[in-house]
Amino acid sequence: MSAPVTAPASSNGPVRPFLNRRLAAFGTTIFAEMSALATTTGSINLGQGFPDTDGPAEIAEAAARAIRDGKGNQYPPGPGVPELRQAIAAHQQRFYGLTYDPDTEVLVTAGATEAIAAALLALLEPGDEVIALEPFYDSYAACIAMAGAVRVPLTLRAPDFRLDVDALRAAVTPRTRLLLLNTPHNPTGTVLTPAELAAVAELAVSRDLLVITDEVYEHLVFEGSHTPLAGLPGMRERTVTISSAGKTFSFTGWKVGWVTGTQELVSAVRTAKQFLTYVSSGPFQYAIAEALRLPDAYFDGFRADLQRKRDLLGDGLRAAGFEVYQPQGTYFITADITPLGEKDAYAFCRALPERCGVVAIPNSVFYDDKDAGRSQVRFTFCKKDDVLAEATSRLRRLMS
Ligand code: PMP
Ligand code: GLN
Repeated sequence: MSAPVTAPASSNGPVRPFLNRRLAAFGTTIFAEMSALATTTGSINLGQGFPDTDGPAEIAEAAARAIRDGKGNQYPPGPGVPELRQAIAAHQQRFYGLTYDPDTEVLVTAGATEAIAAALLALLEPGDEVIALEPFYDSYAACIAMAGAVRVPLTLRAPDFRLDVDALRAAVTPRTRLLLLNTPHNPTGTVLTPAELAAVAELAVSRDLLVITDEVYEHLVFEGSHTPLAGLPGMRERTVTISSAGKTFSFTGWKVGWVTGTQELVSAVRTAKQFLTYVSSGPFQYAIAEALRLPDAYFDGFRADLQRKRDLLGDGLRAAGFEVYQPQGTYFITADITPLGEKDAYAFCRALPERCGVVAIPNSVFYDDKDAGRSQVRFTFCKKDDVLAEATSRLRRLMS
């Protein structure tokens, strides 16, 4: 085996001469890079989005019970255990009035990450164009590339990060196959309004496009409420909806996600999914089935708690001199570093642990249009109050 003479360039990793061209532009994910930096420097990690408090004790106990009772310790069924598929269908009905057949229209995946990969690999032909909201969640660009497709960014611009419907219409070409949406949106915190969703739906129907909608932060909408795109006229038959227990129940390590859609769409996604992991998370599937049936008080309390933390972090960042863009959803705040005399988010984030013992994520890596995100930084607020307070007190040192 001989390596090419010229190894492909990598943005943030060592030279990897064996990596194929589709993946050559992708280095280590920014989340792994920044979490490693947090560990080596002993910094407070407001980078990667994982809570520092586990989800409900009774749900952790349900997982332990499943293991002890021999439920899910061997390969679960390919589409997911029936208890969880039924609970997902019941959740869609309970919160959104959407009806899905648990046997044919629900698929359990290894987190939303696998759902995104399987959906893109299943639905795209090489050369198809995919319009995705920029800044992108990082796996979108990599999975579009793995499918051999072409990403077409639709930029959400500061300070409001609204969807530009005219730009969206203009981005559709005869090669466009799919829209890849994310609402509530990571990293900006944008929640698409009913009018924006209606415009997307109208366009998808009129141009006969498929839509993948990543709604992992569906239970973290602070203003208004979450509207699933699949519920809009004409959308059920063309929409793959993705969600995750990691976000809603604070068990990100369990990697339980799911897809809902018509039988035709779900069976396509399942075909790809079965050759990625086949199945995953056996005992955890039983526990998440219980979690999805928790009373409203759980979901309301989770949202209220995170909303309070959003305000705590937002106030702290403002006091530390950042320009803060108020998120309507998710557990992230995007802030601008320009008022601190800084220009480059990546350089800023690399230096931040050394300067004040805090880790954040540079949004610039989520943009093709580097100028649009050059000075934006993302902080997560899914952390204990005293951790948020300590982090913002450290960040205040940047002003001196
Ligand atoms: N989509 C978005 C927008 C995310 O923020 C994340 C991170 N949780 C994922 C997908 C991946 O979710 P999971 O951890 O369930 O794979
Ligand atoms: N979704 C998490 C975030 O945006 C990261 C998940 C991951 O590291 N892949 O922070």
